Amino acid sequence: MNPLRGAILAAARSTRVRRGVESVRATRRVVDRFVAGETADDALECVHRLTGDGLLATIDHLGEEVRDDAGADATVAAYATLLEALATKDLARGADVSVKLTALGLDVDRAAARARAQRVLAAATAVGATMTVDMEHSALTDVTLETARELRATDPSVATVVQAMLRRTEADVERLATEGARVRLCKGAYAEDERVAFHRREDVRASYRRCLQVLMTSPCRPLVATHDPEMVTAAMELATATGRRADEFEVQMLLGVRPDEQRRLQGLGLTVRVYVPYGTQWWGYLMRRLAERPANLAFFARAVASRG
Ligand SMILES: Cc1cc2nc3c(=O)[nH]c(=O)nc-3n(C[C@H](O)[C@H](O)[C@H](O)COP(=O)(O)OP(=O)(O)OC[C@H]3O[C@@H](n4cnc5c(N)ncnc54)[C@H](O)[C@@H]3O)c2cc1C
Repeated sequence: MNPLRGAILAAARSTRVRRGVESVRATRRVVDRFVAGETADDALECVHRLTGDGLLATIDHLGEEVRDDAGADATVAAYATLLEALATKDLARGADVSVKLTALGLDVDRAAARARAQRVLAAATAVGATMTVDMEHSALTDVTLETARELRATDPSVATVVQAMLRRTEADVERLATEGARVRLCKGAYAEDERVAFHRREDVRASYRRCLQVLMTSPCRPLVATHDPEMVTAAMELATATGRRADEFEVQMLLGVRPDEQRRLQGLGLTVRVYVPYGTQWWGYLMRRLAERPANLAFFARAVASRG
């Protein structure tokens, strides 16, 4: 792994670094680029703006690795409040919520986390929204895929996420393809050992292309989550080659990353969904974004240096 990326992901786990950065007001501007805000109202405002531009949203209440039942229950309550508010503003239909199982207490009790995921799913279904189970680090791949599969038994629209950087993913995708699921294909945002993950950029891309090929030629609804122009072009070419209509797959990008490209693709008639994170627990999320791209890190460093 790139040493810079490793260092940033290590900083993501450091409380001391976090406190230092939080004390600098200027970093707020950086956070604002990638995070909708700290409250459900902030998220609603962001979704309203995106919807006005013809974009769809998947909303993530930030928080992960919750270590107690109270925290996990608070995550469920946050999603329930958000979904009700979306419905009140007539924004729920077509919206999606992205949920991390560790925010629902996976590290505490697997069965309880699954039950909480069912409650979030019920709240989403009740207002016409859908749910995606985000993928976390590789030690959780099996339990996450299994839980998503169990949730799909209740509601087949539940989306599963796979990470092209993992060596196992092609086999996982083959299985998911036969199940006709909604599958979000991303590269993977976590620091992983070379035994389980590809580290070379071109190997990750090659894996992404192979997985895309399987998904596009299957009964799945592929959710193509990437900002990489080569991957987006590959998806569009495969869709044309396989006769898949523009409303039969999605391109997904993160809030604040290539917003012009999001609008350009939407203008071409593609279905584009933006990942909208909100909440007070933005630290780990922000660090993963910085680790992905040195240009983001430079933007962050400039803001810290200006201390404005
Ligand atoms: C909707 C969505 C959901 C996700 N969900 C998960 C998840 O559940 N689990 C998980 O592990 N990861 C998730 N990720 C993160 C993902 O795994 C990658 O870490 C992240 O998307 C970076 O990979 P990339 O393919 O976008 O582009 P990269 O490999 O980072 O970059 C490739 C190329 O894309 C272009 N590019 C990238 N960023 C920019 C930019 N800011 N401006 C201009 N050009 C740019 C450049 O040409 C660059 O060379 C998600 C990503 C998205 C978009």
